[in-house]
Amino acid sequence: MHTITLIPGDGIGPEITQAVKDIFSAAGAPIQWEEQNAGQTTFDQSGELIPQSLLDSLEKNRVALKGPITTPVGKGFRSINITLRQKYDLYQNVRPAKTTEGIDSRYTGVNLVLFRENTEGLYSGLEVYDERLGISDSFNRITVAGSRKICRAAFAYAAKHGRKKVTLAHKANILKMAGKLMLDACKEAATEFPQIVFEDKIIDNMCMQLVNKPEQFDVVVTTNLFGDILSDLCAGLVGGLGVVSGANVGDDMAIFEAVHGSAPDIAGQGKANPTALLRSGLMMLHHLGEHALAERIEDALDETLKHKEECTGDLGGKASTSQFAQSIIGRL
Ligand code: NAD
Repeated sequence: MHTITLIPGDGIGPEITQAVKDIFSAAGAPIQWEEQNAGQTTFDQSGELIPQSLLDSLEKNRVALKGPITTPVGKGFRSINITLRQKYDLYQNVRPAKTTEGIDSRYTGVNLVLFRENTEGLYSGLEVYDERLGISDSFNRITVAGSRKICRAAFAYAAKHGRKKVTLAHKANILKMAGKLMLDACKEAATEFPQIVFEDKIIDNMCMQLVNKPEQFDVVVTTNLFGDILSDLCAGLVGGLGVVSGANVGDDMAIFEAVHGSAPDIAGQGKANPTALLRSGLMMLHHLGEHALAERIEDALDETLKHKEECTGDLGGKASTSQFAQSIIGRL
């Protein structure tokens, strides 16, 4: 039995986490959920954005599944996602993007995994504003250690999963120092994995290539800001944010999450698509070593996706979140 911290989140979060819980329970997943929330809901209840009880649960269980969270708008509220990533050094943001039968996309044959550095770069929180001069400086902190860790993680993933190629997306032609650190780190990692082809592409060309011929990419690694942008671009290649999964992974903790937001416009209406969170849950099952179970649930999901009428409105169907979940359960 695995004890997992479950963060339902805000907006549609509780609806999609319930769907995932129902599917996992019907599949007999050996999981005991420890529910702890964060975000707008806990803030309204107790004035706390990230309750200590959630941090205690994460530190004990080391694995979590997280719904989307609303960070209240206003001065002084730091993003909860960034806080958790930096506090626990969850330096890998892993985002698979794969075309799937039944999910509309302009492309076929896309099957890539993006590794975004998750703690450094322009998200380091090193920003200053000189009010007198009207100048803001945001520091793009890149470290040798951080670059080595993310590049090595991408190669290790490629080797473990039988992938053939790692592509680094960078801007080393302009960012002569920061860009070069990532390039050097990837070249160093490549020597350790000679069976994996290594190539690098400048970020602007990378965007064009991804839109033009995405099936050429296998594993992609990049810095924090480029990864933030590329990961949504990749989601767009395979059907949008409602269907892609994500994981924040460190050496001794992992938080799996739906990458879309809390969708306040449809919250509480039973319209939310649980696919993104379910797929994140499947990544979690693989992380826990429950490979056969993950594959069984994925087969049931893929089969259901082929029947549009059984899916939620965003996928062209008419089903509610719970009806969609029941269709998946019926195919387990
Ligand atoms: P959003 O992803 O919540 O919504 C964008 C659009 O996509 C909306 O029309 C929404 O209805 C739709 N959508 C999103 N997920 C869906 C799903 N599962 N099924 C069907 N439709 C879905 O983005 P937003 O409106 O920019 O952000 C809303 C809130 O979410 C903000 O407070 C933002 O800070 C937060 N947010 C949180 C995360 C996270 O926790 N990982 C990520 C992004 C945004």
